[in-house]
Amino acid sequence: MNYLIEAADLAKTYPDGTPALRQASFSIQKGEFVAIMGPSGSGKSTLLHILGFLDPQTAGTYRFKGHTLHELSDDAVARVRNEDMGFVFQQFNLLPRETVLENVYLPLYYSEVPKPEWRARATQAVAQVGLLHRIDHEAYMLSGGEKQRVAIARALINKPELIFADEPTGNLDSASGLGVMDILATLHSAGHTVILITHDEDIARRAKRMLIIRDGVLVQDTSLSPL
Ligand code: ADP
Repeated sequence: MNYLIEAADLAKTYPDGTPALRQASFSIQKGEFVAIMGPSGSGKSTLLHILGFLDPQTAGTYRFKGHTLHELSDDAVARVRNEDMGFVFQQFNLLPRETVLENVYLPLYYSEVPKPEWRARATQAVAQVGLLHRIDHEAYMLSGGEKQRVAIARALINKPELIFADEPTGNLDSASGLGVMDILATLHSAGHTVILITHDEDIARRAKRMLIIRDGVLVQDTSLSPL
């Protein structure tokens, strides 16, 4: 089986002794749409940091496309994070005084995409999230839902295989949140692998598979059928 993600007996204890993650073993294939769900403090962000090569585990093994963090050089890790993974966060993390286009360009500064191609690429990503009419607006002028759509376009700019969305609807009203979830579902249908982190079961149910984490332990791994 060709897995994108393989996690075996993952655990993470922070330097202050907090056992944030105690046991998680699972694999994710290319093209899946998986929700990682659990209450606040259960270890979801800790797990996301391991899966996104942001922070290593303290026990167990994690492979992304067959590679562990330790066997890759710093440059190779940066390339994997920039080209194979896209990140969407609850707080959007946009530059408020820059335009939508400039915000979406950001990952390109660290890529090998030639500059003459940037505009066409960014325009395509902005079109994918339905925001072409806002492309020259500064980010601070946008609604929360629009900001999150810009963040998704930025995550898509390098055409990553995998998109991590960490509580992407956490700062949005329910209508905007549904719009963001519709975009993530469309990206999954188009072939992207999507990993969604949420404490909200209704949001998690939009995925095809739900991993439930409690007190740092992966306690359930369920396939979801459409409601
Ligand atoms: P969640 O994302 O589900 O809210 P977290 O992974 O953020 O959970 O946190 C899991 C546990 O680890 C919590 O008890 C939290 O307080 C603790 N924790 C998170 N980050 C750190 C850190 N950098 N140092 C020490 N403890 C941490």
